[in-house]
Amino acid sequence: EIILSAENIFKSYTSENQNKIDVLKDVSLSIQINKINLIIGASGAGKSTLLHILSGLDNPDSGKVFFKDENIFMMNENKLTNFRNKHIGFVFQFHHLLPEFTALENVAIPIMISGKSLTKAKDKAKEILDIVGLNDRLNNKPSELSGGEAQRVAVARALANNPDIIFADEPTGNLDSFNSEIIHKLFFEIRDKFNTTFLIVSHNPELIKLGEIIFEMKDGKILNQHGVENE
Ligand code: ADP
Ligand code: ADP
Repeated sequence: EIILSAENIFKSYTSENQNKIDVLKDVSLSIQINKINLIIGASGAGKSTLLHILSGLDNPDSGKVFFKDENIFMMNENKLTNFRNKHIGFVFQFHHLLPEFTALENVAIPIMISGKSLTKAKDKAKEILDIVGLNDRLNNKPSELSGGEAQRVAVARALANNPDIIFADEPTGNLDSFNSEIIHKLFFEIRDKFNTTFLIVSHNPELIKLGEIIFEMKDGKILNQHGVENE
């Protein structure tokens, strides 16, 4: 079953010396619900650009993106905001936590922004931080956490509003193999517990072992796709 799909996405940028760079050249793909979907490809292949378009952060020059049968680029501003805040979560290569806030607060803030009370937001944040194994780090600020711990807080924050899909751009690109392993296991745990769909992007071929559905990307195109059952 498909939760998110892209149809015929084209995107180009004009460089400073006015050269047109075609970054995405007719990309179509379907993200399978409840699976760890992986886009793998060399640096510069267009993976981040595709991720931004699939998540509604950036517009394509042409093409469509459907979230559960609805074209996200046809949504009005409110609906698109709702899609971004409630249906998707993000994990980046660097944790991007707010440095002046504790782990608990970093996770609670997006819950409050979505309309919950402080008490409810903190309770929920505690619950999620417990899942990522950090119930002893609630009151620590990012500078007091290890790289692996900070990234686990970032995963917790991505989960804050029960997203359907978590987008992760090189989520373990800054971690050693021990901590990468912890994060990867966490993705599977979260998927199993909450039925979250993952879309992970990486240039690291080692991550292939992680993907249940794998898209190989090169020079702005999807070359290959593995793991999709024929339906
Ligand atoms: P990947 O994530 O696979 O490394 P990107 O999507 O980041 O690839 O980039 C693909 C190509 O698009 C690169 O050549 C990059 O320089 C170019 N690019 C990405 N974003 C911009 C931008 N905002 N302006 C100009 N060129 C860009
Ligand atoms: P219901 O649909 O009955 O309201 P939910 O499935 O939304 O229940 O939530 C059940 C519990 O699991 C709640 O405590 C909720 O906060 C938590 N939960 C559900 N999905 C997620 C998720 N993706 N991330 C974090 N917590 C979640």
